[in-house]
Amino acid sequence: MLTKEHIEEFKIRLEKERAILQKELSSIGKQNPSNPDDWEPRAPGEEFGADRNDNADIVEALHENNAAINELEIRLKNVSLALERIEKGTYGICEESGNPIELERLNANPAAITCIAHA
Ligand SMILES: [Zn+2]
Repeated sequence: MLTKEHIEEFKIRLEKERAILQKELSSIGKQNPSNPDDWEPRAPGEEFGADRNDNADIVEALHENNAAINELEIRLKNVSLALERIEKGTYGICEESGNPIELERLNANPAAITCIAHA
């Protein structure tokens, strides 16, 4: 059974994770000013220049950053959703079945929105 204390603890963990994810995202990308949940890749400290090899390196770095950003964005979105669910009072309820999500599952992943059976 999920108590208020559990939820408070998960909320702290989720807020910490959100801060970490946002920090990671800001180190490799830039936030879209009109949509804070959207991040765009940014080449590390370089601009396109005349050197073709440099440009290829930058394109490769952007490509890698883009893949990392996509993954971080998904995790950030899940964490934000879980925090929203805490606010709405629906945290810890499986989105598929409406059953309570197992405590062990939330312990392993506080952003989980389904029970083990519907994972
Ligand atoms: Zn379920």
